[in-house]
Amino acid sequence: MTIEALIEAVAAYNPNPDALELLRKAYSLALKSHEGQLRQSGETYIHHPLSVAMILADMKVDTQSLVTALLHDTLEDTSLTPEEIEATFGKKVLHLIDGVTKIGKFHFKKSRAEKQAENFRKMLLSMSEDIRVLLVKLADRLHNMRTIEWLDPAKQRAIGQETLDIYAPLANRLGIGWIKLELEDLSFRALDPETYADLRARVARKRKESKNYIDQIVRSVSQNLQENGVPGRVIGRYKHIYSIYRKMTLQEIPFDEIYDLMGIRVITDSKLHCYGILGLLHGIYKPMAGRIKDFIAVPKSNMYQSLHTTVIGPEGVLIEFQIRTEEMHRVAEEGVAAHWNYKENADGAPTLSDLKVVTWLRQLVEWQKELSDNHEFMNSVKLNLFPDEVYIFTPKGDVREMIKGATAIDFAYGIHTEVGHRTVGARVNGRWVPIKTVLESGDVVEIITNASQTPSKDWLRFVATPKARARIRHWIKEEETRQAAEIGLRALEAEASKLHHRFGEFTKSPHLEILLSFSDLPEPTLEDVYSRIGFGRLPASAVLRKILPEQTGEPPSPPQVSPHSSAVPIIVRGGGKDLLIGLAHCCSPVPGEEIVGYVSRGRGIIVHTADCPNLLHLSLEADRIVPAVWESSREAIFDVHLRVSMEDKPGMLAAVSAAISERGANITHAEVKQAKHLMGVLDFTVTVGNLAHLEEIMARVQHVKGVVRVQRIKTATAPGDHPGA
Ligand code: MN
Repeated sequence: MTIEALIEAVAAYNPNPDALELLRKAYSLALKSHEGQLRQSGETYIHHPLSVAMILADMKVDTQSLVTALLHDTLEDTSLTPEEIEATFGKKVLHLIDGVTKIGKFHFKKSRAEKQAENFRKMLLSMSEDIRVLLVKLADRLHNMRTIEWLDPAKQRAIGQETLDIYAPLANRLGIGWIKLELEDLSFRALDPETYADLRARVARKRKESKNYIDQIVRSVSQNLQENGVPGRVIGRYKHIYSIYRKMTLQEIPFDEIYDLMGIRVITDSKLHCYGILGLLHGIYKPMAGRIKDFIAVPKSNMYQSLHTTVIGPEGVLIEFQIRTEEMHRVAEEGVAAHWNYKENADGAPTLSDLKVVTWLRQLVEWQKELSDNHEFMNSVKLNLFPDEVYIFTPKGDVREMIKGATAIDFAYGIHTEVGHRTVGARVNGRWVPIKTVLESGDVVEIITNASQTPSKDWLRFVATPKARARIRHWIKEEETRQAAEIGLRALEAEASKLHHRFGEFTKSPHLEILLSFSDLPEPTLEDVYSRIGFGRLPASAVLRKILPEQTGEPPSPPQVSPHSSAVPIIVRGGGKDLLIGLAHCCSPVPGEEIVGYVSRGRGIIVHTADCPNLLHLSLEADRIVPAVWESSREAIFDVHLRVSMEDKPGMLAAVSAAISERGANITHAEVKQAKHLMGVLDFTVTVGNLAHLEEIMARVQHVKGVVRVQRIKTATAPGDHPGA
């Protein structure tokens, strides 16, 4: 294999001197870059890229594909930089080489389900963006398979299996029949050398025996065509070893009973003559019923067209005929490559204007769902065969299809709704990332869950899949209903106590029926009544008026005065009557800390820590600040926000979570904030009993190996915003 042989082969179909000059340049660069490298066979490395380019030259591909072939291993295996490639050969070639390198990094393992193999093939197609990437990759794989005997047997088997599962079907899908058949035979040989050798010997014997027979048929058919004035060449052909093996194993037929080891192909000039020849053949030999296939009227999904018929030849031997035009023959052999126009347009890319190729690619991507608009499809075909899909690996190596834009949290919901709900973080390609990270084809994604995690409304801002969106909405709706029901129940209790009753008395008959009459559901529930009150759709007073009509005329009991009780164990002085007390979310006070109350407009008293950054601008309204103290007799739990900075390495989230739980706190929320410069930042919301408890937890986390810093987060909000909202 020499560069001169390559130049000669290319010049035969594309004599443009500029193109040939570019090939020489690519060759010298490849030669220089691979200098000193040897292949397993002991040959100099340059032999490989040259052979790959030669395979492609035989397919008459464009110059950029050939340059890509010559340089396809340089990015991965040599010190050549992307900048150097781009400087001489342009962005497009760099992009193509990059694509070949990228898909070369994925390896499909045996024993996956067929669906997995299909997803893997689609992933390679989708990552190829430009179909030329795949052409170069197929040629690369073909040459590697041709020289696979130099690898150790285990490696041969692994590569052979992957070729059989992934690359041969891809070649078939691209319609490149000869590459598919050769890859299959080479894989079969690598996987099972003995059976292969045995079968090959048998086929060779049979060929020898039947040579005279086939020659005789070829002669008599040719003669018959001539007599009838129908043009056509008649060729004897033999089945490939792997096709025979598949037939034997799938249909459990012994070798001696396989009747179509050989066949005959007739190639003519027009479709009309194809059908004419079919008629002529059936006039000479008796056709087998049910063995006539018209792939001209109904092409295969990879655009293969031909007429097939099996006839009973002399001495009762069955012979399969394939009848096709020259054009159909070219498509059957070269597939997508048959449509490449080597005449290049201005930017050096091959033209793909042929409408037929668009139809062809359409067939190729038969799984491609609804294509809204032909035009759109034509535009996207050159760049991206699957604009809307990405393919993601699970840690076990399964491949899942996701829509483009899908994030780590979408992926989690794709696994299972419960996994989605409990997601606290994700690792993509071994690195921690925020759960809103958009995934790319080929990413390996590991989801980290925690039993106490729950979905957040925030997630709706970045999820991309309808499934995740629906599940999160559903969860939030249920959660809000549950909270509203709690509020509703409390409102009823408060209303009842004003009337000197305990609400508990009313949940039995006959009051129960009255209560249930307020439910909107076909099967009324108390929870529904409570939540309607909690959502403000139904006043608690209206419910009690119906239960205790005789008391509703009475004036309500005197309003409560401060200090009053609330869900929060805090006593506020001088804050006004009947105001709700809530804890500020910005600083999340815990018992033991100094606190102050802030009388908000319309949302009750919000309690902040005395050192909350937001008090700076709140204290401008001094009359709204009221003293507050913790009510020591009551216990409760409190959410606080912690930020943990640590080394970015596996197992950290688990270790930190364990440290927190070990000290008796729950994690209600965890989020990976950022991961760069080998540092990870995790934000946690944890529930604690008081300041001492919190300090204990922080001290424990600080001691986890790899943790750099643990901070309490108190967020400042912009002035004018309602802090604590
Ligand atoms: Mn290679």
